[in-house]
Amino acid sequence: MIVMKFGGTSVQDAKAIERAATIVKGRAALKPVVVVSAMAKVTDQLLAMARAAGNGDRKNALKLCRALQERHYNTAGELLGTALFTQFHSDLGLDFETLDELLRGIAAVGELTPRTTDYVSAFGEVLSSKIVTAAFSALGIDSALVDSRECIVTDIAHTRAAPLLEETNERLRKTVQPLLESGKVPVMGGFIGSTKAGITTTIGRGGSDYSAAIVGAGLGAEKIEIWTDVDGMMTTDPNICSDARRIKVISFDEAAELAYFGAKVLHPATVLPAVQKNIPVYVLNSRNPPCEGTRIIARAPRCRNFFKAIAVKKRITIVDVAAPRMQLAHGFLRGIFEAFDRHRVAVDVVSTSEVSVSLTVESNDSIPALAADLAKLADVKYEGRKAIVCLVGENLRETPGIAARVFGELSDVKIRMISQGASEINLTFVVEEDAALDVVRRLHKTFFSDLDVEVFA
Ligand code: ADP
Ligand code: ASP
Ligand code: MG
Repeated sequence: MIVMKFGGTSVQDAKAIERAATIVKGRAALKPVVVVSAMAKVTDQLLAMARAAGNGDRKNALKLCRALQERHYNTAGELLGTALFTQFHSDLGLDFETLDELLRGIAAVGELTPRTTDYVSAFGEVLSSKIVTAAFSALGIDSALVDSRECIVTDIAHTRAAPLLEETNERLRKTVQPLLESGKVPVMGGFIGSTKAGITTTIGRGGSDYSAAIVGAGLGAEKIEIWTDVDGMMTTDPNICSDARRIKVISFDEAAELAYFGAKVLHPATVLPAVQKNIPVYVLNSRNPPCEGTRIIARAPRCRNFFKAIAVKKRITIVDVAAPRMQLAHGFLRGIFEAFDRHRVAVDVVSTSEVSVSLTVESNDSIPALAADLAKLADVKYEGRKAIVCLVGENLRETPGIAARVFGELSDVKIRMISQGASEINLTFVVEEDAALDVVRRLHKTFFSDLDVEVFA
């Protein structure tokens, strides 16, 4: 079997869903399980209505909800035609009634908890998976809806829950496997799951890629296909450099680093389940299905170029923690990391000196409280509006002088932190957010003009 995941833009309207159906039909013999995201922008809209309700703005929350309902009804109507839509309408209608009630409840209390946030944001995938299943049947695919909340079991860390693999795999084998065996195409929503007690959870923004990998690993897929709106993993975000080129093949390690440091074409956790079962992952374009995309595998072929790609992650804050001289010894770092842990703030890049430690984190609301906590240990400063730029390539391991070439190019740029990642395949540094795109464009021009045709398209 294989897993085919369609992202938000790949199910954004009736045309996109029809394209997805054609792609799935072409793979019928491979026994696909289809994982879908919410329709494009829907998760953002659900979160916006949840926040409005949480602020007590019931009117606005319900208005946004009605707009969402109209979009889903229109898409379903277009795909199903009048007769089928009439049956389907009441099912969708119940979901919107529930969502409506939920928003009224949140507005009445005037408080939005992580648990209710998940309950609201899960509707995107609940709705899209229902519409895609019905549309696939209408288009001649023998599809079957699977409620992901009945098979992706997670812990209770709302909005970024972690899957419990043993339980999940067992449920996947029980619910999805029999459908495959009876020749059906199971369709399920990505991003969502539930705790053992049945409380709805989500696994983090962009998490449908991760869901696809969990399903693929759980069912022993031959491959996992991530269908999106670009030709594959590119040398950098094509929105930043229009001359970004497609990477034909890349290693799991390289892809994971790129995803972690901002290449949002793949959720950073996607690669892990695939690596554990050695399942190749393909990134493909649903608007250009004949294109071969990017193949992500355990060992990529040798490449003539220093780097495979550049990623950039904006909205970064640097936290500087300075201890009195000689105190940076035993226990001090532990104290710092424990504080980050208590506030559930993840650290991306770290650099230390005898007297201070600098760490980068994604800018977020917990930073002031974290800084107050750290101030008990040492002097603390933090500064936002930074960006991490990350160059990735396995050749970094063996080739001397690469860092000199990179920083030679950027001699006029203020560089705040540098780290040649512990994995030895990334060169990462921090710049002012305003300078980041220019830095990426300059490096892209220098290092990605003359490319190895074996690796790049
Ligand atoms: P989906 O909705 O299909 O999950 P995403 O929007 O999450 O799609 O990811 C696709 C987007 O990722 C692309 O449109 C592109 O702008 C962005 N992106 C960032 N870095 C890269 C990269 N190195 N290669 C390709 N796309 C990238
Ligand atoms: N719909 C979710 C999001 O927008 C998950 C995903 O698309 O991968 O974050
Ligand atoms: Mg995505």
